[in-house]
Amino acid sequence: MRDGAKTREVAEGVVQVYLPLPMRPTIVNVYLVRAGGTWTLIDTGMNTEDSVAAFRAALADVGVAETAITRLVGTHHHIDHFGTSEPYRQLTHAEVYLHPLEAERATLMGHIGGENTEYLRQHGVPDVPPDRRLPPPSRFFGNWYAPARPDHLLGDEDDIPLGEGRSLEVVWTPGHTPGHCCLLLKPDGILFVGDHLLPKITPHVGLWPNGPENPLGDFLASHEKIQRVEARLVCPAHGAVYEDHRRRARQLIDFHRVRKLTMLDLIRRRPLTAYEVALDAFAIAADNRFQVMAGTYETLAHLELLRREGRALRAERDGVVRYEGR
Ligand SMILES: [Zn+2]
Repeated sequence: MRDGAKTREVAEGVVQVYLPLPMRPTIVNVYLVRAGGTWTLIDTGMNTEDSVAAFRAALADVGVAETAITRLVGTHHHIDHFGTSEPYRQLTHAEVYLHPLEAERATLMGHIGGENTEYLRQHGVPDVPPDRRLPPPSRFFGNWYAPARPDHLLGDEDDIPLGEGRSLEVVWTPGHTPGHCCLLLKPDGILFVGDHLLPKITPHVGLWPNGPENPLGDFLASHEKIQRVEARLVCPAHGAVYEDHRRRARQLIDFHRVRKLTMLDLIRRRPLTAYEVALDAFAIAADNRFQVMAGTYETLAHLELLRREGRALRAERDGVVRYEGR
């Protein structure tokens, strides 16, 4: 193993590559899948110097020529997964695959302004002076996000032939992001799950302005759906490979059910804004603007699901939205 290279063959011709991230979680796993003389890369890591150096060292370590990578498949558009897709497309000449909803988000990322102060205010978040508001993602991430324009758009149940009898079946799993996809390597039964089914942590699921209306409902439905897939090994983007995706899917469904009930308890006592519920439900620091935003959006996803289930009411007064349990 060379300096900085961290790879592990988790199954015949399936290599897990650990790439560093400058933030938590501190590692993202990308995967190389061999079929005959060609390789498919699943996710790319973030476009930092450290990550690119680690990736190139990994290729040398495994003995993969850059041009032997002919396909690059993104599970979703997030910076730690798809951030280096354009540099790697140029490096390898691979064809890029991504779900259309993710391609849309990747393009939008460069045009999103700073925080949506009006939306936050509406959900009870106290205002801060303009210099303490969140910057636009493009300014915050800069060159770390270099997304490729996909050559192929992924659709649910698509089967991408890799050669030598191997193929990748697309399992569309919206929730964490609208076009998130898991990929099932056949006939091996190896499931690449991106952020959908992480072994130790739960991915962010938030109700964002201009996003899907019921992201937590989508996320939970995707966990029912993934349980219908037959797989013997699960390859997550963060954390170690594991077995039994069904057990983990049931745990995640249960985790959100409990969190939802905790929030229902709070809003049964008195009507509350999403921000007030978030302060109680999550260990967020009120002076950390990013945590406040993410916590409020994640809380909203739960409150909106409760409302759709008929267990909460949403009332807007003087421009502020409060939820009340029934
Ligand atoms: Zn993600």
